[in-house]
Amino acid sequence: MRSYLPGFDFLSRAILVVALAGAALLSGQCLASTASPDAPNLLLLNARVYTMNENRPVAEAIAIRGNRILAVGSGETLRATASSETRVVDLDGKAVLPGFQDQHVHPMGAGLEKQGCQIEQGANLATLLRQLGVCVAQQPAGSWVTGGPWDASALGVVPEASLLDPIAPDHPVYLIDTSGHSVWVNSAALAQAGLSASTINPRGGIIERDAEGYPSGVLRESATALVSKEIPPPSTEELEDALSDSLELMLSFGITSFTDAATGYLAGAQRELEVYRALADAGEIPQRARVCVTWSPAAGVKEAGIDELIARSNLYSGHKVTVDCVKIFLDGVPADGHTAAMLEPYAGVVSGRSDPASQRGLLLLEQNELNRAVARFDAMGLAVKFHAAGDAAVRAGLDAIEYAREHNGYTGKLHDVGHSTFVNPEDLSRGRAIGATFELSPYLWAPSPINDDISKAVGSPRIERVWPFRELLDNGASVVVGSDWAVVPSVNPWIAVEMLVTRQRSGGSPDSFGARQAITLQEALELFTVSAARHMGAQHKLGQLAPGMLADLIVVDRDPFAIPVTQLHDVRVVMTIVDGQLVFER
Ligand SMILES: [Zn+2]
Repeated sequence: MRSYLPGFDFLSRAILVVALAGAALLSGQCLASTASPDAPNLLLLNARVYTMNENRPVAEAIAIRGNRILAVGSGETLRATASSETRVVDLDGKAVLPGFQDQHVHPMGAGLEKQGCQIEQGANLATLLRQLGVCVAQQPAGSWVTGGPWDASALGVVPEASLLDPIAPDHPVYLIDTSGHSVWVNSAALAQAGLSASTINPRGGIIERDAEGYPSGVLRESATALVSKEIPPPSTEELEDALSDSLELMLSFGITSFTDAATGYLAGAQRELEVYRALADAGEIPQRARVCVTWSPAAGVKEAGIDELIARSNLYSGHKVTVDCVKIFLDGVPADGHTAAMLEPYAGVVSGRSDPASQRGLLLLEQNELNRAVARFDAMGLAVKFHAAGDAAVRAGLDAIEYAREHNGYTGKLHDVGHSTFVNPEDLSRGRAIGATFELSPYLWAPSPINDDISKAVGSPRIERVWPFRELLDNGASVVVGSDWAVVPSVNPWIAVEMLVTRQRSGGSPDSFGARQAITLQEALELFTVSAARHMGAQHKLGQLAPGMLADLIVVDRDPFAIPVTQLHDVRVVMTIVDGQLVFER
């Protein structure tokens, strides 16, 4: 017997009902004659199937054969198509949706973070020092203690090396902040990296300093590389374990496709791509992955040979893995360090600084250099993904895409402006005209404390338009969402779905973040499914539950349209199916 669903043998009996006899009775035929080459292998019955397809938005059953969806319809009709080999699952009213696509995630880094020193999100100074002390005690003197996150507003003090020194006099310490764009190091780390008052700020980076000009312990953007280059890179085994752990966790949240938004930061792009290829070759990447190679990093220092690596990047594509994307960092984050590039000056000030970068942030590349690079990658058929948080960076990214379109015409890939935290009203309608997608990060606004920093830095009224989903959709823009995990503590898309609808903290809150940019539940679900597929050029086969589509779908424990919106973050995925294969079951 040919089995397309080996995993289904392990399904709990509570949800699996093999209804061969029932199927035969309904169709009025004997078992032998019902066996048909066109019969489904899998039939999910008694469900609320939200198809994201306008012809039939809701159905009660779905039939799958191999890796495709055969039919969506009434239970009675589909049951009649079953053969003796069809597995029939009674979902008892649970909901079925297309698999979710996370268009911006850092799975390898997230997995590695779990291996490092873990500081609780939103920790104050005392908590952070206590948790750091536990990590330091577990490691031999002289070895690096790396981890995070820390958050400027949650700490309650200005982070300085001298605060960490009593806890770690003999270990170099390297702690990444919530945004991933700033680090806090101790004096042992500064000494090992050879940083002194005479060290100048690298291009695109800032070394925070004391009154005498001596590095005070916080490094931003490209300046982080001055210290991170001293840290021994993770082993191949550590990288593989990190990626595998994250893939499994993402499946448990129903993420059937994802985009690795920036390889190269952990062990160099080539080694990280080799990890993807090794796992793909071993058949250990169950979900669909797009991988972006970092060309222009936030740290500014390009990897040696990166252009050659990008030119042969398809060498690292494999089963379910496509390496066809280049990541370009245009700015930092619009938080306490003011590193995102803004068209108008920040509302807040960075203590001790009055330079132009502290007022409007930093654009990490010259526009001409950027235009030429995007046109070149576009001509190669590669998608470009920008990191662009400030409205000046978003505009620079759109300008570069427009330049590429003028030079190359449409070459078949939609490029995306990632984060799009602030978008100038004049730029809202440009994406549609030039074939650009806006990728936004709804998970970032809560429960992550980074939004307090952003509110303070940007001020009213700009903060009311933060992550302008409503305005972008109203302008007909292509919009997708990304978690940016592990910048956020959880990769669970249902946290984001709720916040897209409520613009409040999980479970509802008196305070809100950009309330006028709220969208409907249907729109939120479309962003994760049909819009994401369209961005990837895969709308003919992914993102909807309709005949002919690939069988990437999830079963969730409750009907998201039947519960209060403030409970959406509690929706649990009970089954994840990719290519017709059950790859996760709760
Ligand atoms: Zn990111």
